[in-house]
Amino acid sequence: MVATFPAPAPADVSGVSLARRPESVAPAPVGASLGLYLHVPFCAHICPYCDFNTYAGQSDLIPRYVAALEREIVAQGVALGGREADTVFLGGGTPSLLPTEEIARLIQACRNAFALGAEAEISLEANPNGVDERYLAGLLEAGVNRLSLGVQTTRRRGLRVLGRLHEASDAGDALAAARAAGFDNVSLDLIFGWPGQTTADLAADLGAVLGGDVGGTVPEHLSLYSLIVEPGTPMADAVARGILSVPDDDASADLYEAAMATLAAAGFVHYEVANWARDSALASRHNLIYWRNGDYLGAGAGAHGSIGGRRTMNHLLPATYCAAVERGEAPVSNVESISPTTAMGETMMLGLRLLRDGVSLPAFDERHGRTLQEVYGDVVGGLAGQGLIECLPDRVRLTPRGLMLANDVCARFV
Ligand code: SF4
Repeated sequence: MVATFPAPAPADVSGVSLARRPESVAPAPVGASLGLYLHVPFCAHICPYCDFNTYAGQSDLIPRYVAALEREIVAQGVALGGREADTVFLGGGTPSLLPTEEIARLIQACRNAFALGAEAEISLEANPNGVDERYLAGLLEAGVNRLSLGVQTTRRRGLRVLGRLHEASDAGDALAAARAAGFDNVSLDLIFGWPGQTTADLAADLGAVLGGDVGGTVPEHLSLYSLIVEPGTPMADAVARGILSVPDDDASADLYEAAMATLAAAGFVHYEVANWARDSALASRHNLIYWRNGDYLGAGAGAHGSIGGRRTMNHLLPATYCAAVERGEAPVSNVESISPTTAMGETMMLGLRLLRDGVSLPAFDERHGRTLQEVYGDVVGGLAGQGLIECLPDRVRLTPRGLMLANDVCARFV
């Protein structure tokens, strides 16, 4: 039987006004605050599974790159009229390779170029090795108020197969140093599904993190990503040659379900497919902008931006990027206009990743000028009939079964 897609009663629609719940509606209203993403494309070495836009052996370029990035931020701020911004995210690559003075300079450029609120979330990704209390205190002083540590696993076997340079003890030392420096908002990244990983390995990772064995305290936030073996990476080559084998879909699903149960028992809020927070207020505000299909600036080599239905991608190579900025040109290599149909599909695909919020019916209407029922009533009805989507009076969201098939469900809206 195919379930019908219930039309929201007027009272339900008005009960979810954007004014009352600005922090939990999806999609983002038109004109909401921007997120600023700054890409740092340098790493000490390249991990065998990585397909990010990042480069090893180019650290000599860092001063030139920071100057170019600063210049791009200023130019973008002028182009966008100094628009209000709510988050800054320094991602990579390895942003913690930058000296704290350079990070301070970039954050100050964001403050000068945009109306960055006093309560803005300013995140930085760091690898556990190479950061100590002094460096982390310098980050705080520079304005960083949220740290994301790439722990990946506490198992030595896992760290080696993932090609990571750090040891498990480095992760504990980095978290302890972050606390000592004064960070009260720390996220740890873990990876599951690495070659040879068992359920006991993942349980050990989560037990160590939740039990405070990593750095003596429990983090505010946890990201748990499934390892994706991307074509063209050394790991994909090793898998193709039979040197490595990764867990199959069923084994990965078992790992994910075990992790969900463990984190739920520990009181963590599973607010997005791959993300948990100790409290809803500790969700990543920057990433929420992506999942709500909001506007974000992408600055730096290879960075993607999406503002007002216009999507951009910058030159990939750091030297090419720097040269374009130095010539006074926009360092953009690709521009795409997002059609209304694509924008609506993306709102669904992204918003359904938010497990509690889902996609708000009134916010969809306000954002796209059409009702969700009118555009996707048949698709949603079919998915609800299969038990994959839950239709509430004011929103649609994944069911627990839909979560296990999230990629398939989201693909129905493309
Ligand atoms: S540290 Fe991160 S960005 Fe750098 S190579 Fe490894 S996975 Fe890629």
